[in-house]
Amino acid sequence: MSSTQGANIVIIGGGIIGCAIAYELAKAGERVTLLERNALAQEASWASAGIISSPGPGSGEFGLRSFRRYPALIAAVEETSGMRVGWNQTGETALIGADNDPRPLQDVMEWQRRHGLHVEWLEGAALREHEPVLSPHITAAIYERDAGSLRVHMMAQALARAATNHGATIREYTPALGLETAGDRVTGVRTPEGIVGADVVVLAAGAWSKGIGELAGLNVPTLPVHGQMLAIADPPVPLRTVVAGGGMYLLPRADGTIAVGATVDYPGFAKRVTPTGVNALIALVERFAPALNGARLVQTWSGLRPGSADGAPIIGPAPHRDGLWIATGHFRGGALLAAATGELVAAGIRSGTVDPLLAPFTPARFA
Ligand SMILES: Cc1cc2nc3c(=O)[nH]c(=O)nc-3n(C[C@H](O)[C@H](O)[C@H](O)COP(=O)(O)OP(=O)(O)OC[C@H]3O[C@@H](n4cnc5c(N)ncnc54)[C@H](O)[C@@H]3O)c2cc1C
Repeated sequence: MSSTQGANIVIIGGGIIGCAIAYELAKAGERVTLLERNALAQEASWASAGIISSPGPGSGEFGLRSFRRYPALIAAVEETSGMRVGWNQTGETALIGADNDPRPLQDVMEWQRRHGLHVEWLEGAALREHEPVLSPHITAAIYERDAGSLRVHMMAQALARAATNHGATIREYTPALGLETAGDRVTGVRTPEGIVGADVVVLAAGAWSKGIGELAGLNVPTLPVHGQMLAIADPPVPLRTVVAGGGMYLLPRADGTIAVGATVDYPGFAKRVTPTGVNALIALVERFAPALNGARLVQTWSGLRPGSADGAPIIGPAPHRDGLWIATGHFRGGALLAAATGELVAAGIRSGTVDPLLAPFTPARFA
């Protein structure tokens, strides 16, 4: 792979991943065009809870890189775009599992401590004082001080505005219909308005990446993983921190509402809030914080996470196709991982080398 400095780079997909890559490339002085078939950030990045959790061994060094990068990235993007991203640094209270076995969570905490994260074990009276709203059945938790949440669509829109201020072109309502190729090289993207020529194309179309990859004969095995959420307002008792356990969570948002999420279900590309989904979320409120039952239900919604065939992101140069990068499959961690994805994809395209942190995510594993 050779360096592509000065190249014309076209990104497909205007969710947080495409926007983060566009921002990093434009900031570095590259010529970038982003194509979004709709308005920016109306899919997973709109539906997202946006929790920026302290990483654990699951997301590893890549998660740490992203987590540590966020404070400076938010500050720079808010400054350059003049927009706010809804960052709410509440900390996160990670609850021990339903079987009350503390060991898995203690192992995570040890890993987090070794990597310099601020985490604290809480139980009994200390836990009650820390988060009074918790159910008395919950006996122990890890408090992750530096975690919080942002509004992912606002972050994506701010990244895009900042990218524009650095010279990028953002084309909304411009779907990619196919990839132009010459031999094994990708040379552009077909759109309803004609071909957009490119030296490098980045496929960052979330759950839709598989279909676009197929048009170029590539296996990019993304799949839509539906998640339903709801929001409540006017809680009788405040929720102070993100409270999470078993893949479900309650989170206090900057506007005073509390978001409750999220189900995991597989209706294909259909988005719909179901009675079963809402029941599961209401049951979660009852399990974690029954005092919140007195709040007002104000909103329900759902979205399609970009899952992948093996559950890990797909990030790196496409195998057997020059001039094509892939950045997708971030599943339940795309908000957290966007900062490092933008940074390392942009650096990889510019330098022509792939950072070792991206090795586990290579698209070549599906070739
Ligand atoms: C309910 C829910 C809760 C979540 N909570 C969290 C959380 O708390 N923390 C966390 O880290 N992550 C969370 N996630 C995951 C995270 O939001 C996603 O991983 C992330 O938003 C994915 O971003 P993306 O840019 O890859 O995809 P998307 O946001 O889906 O963007 C893909 C874009 O590509 C566009 N596109 C598709 N086809 C084309 C085409 N042919 N041409 C042009 N554009 C095209 C789409 O219109 C879309 O805008 C959650 C997700 C959901 C759904």
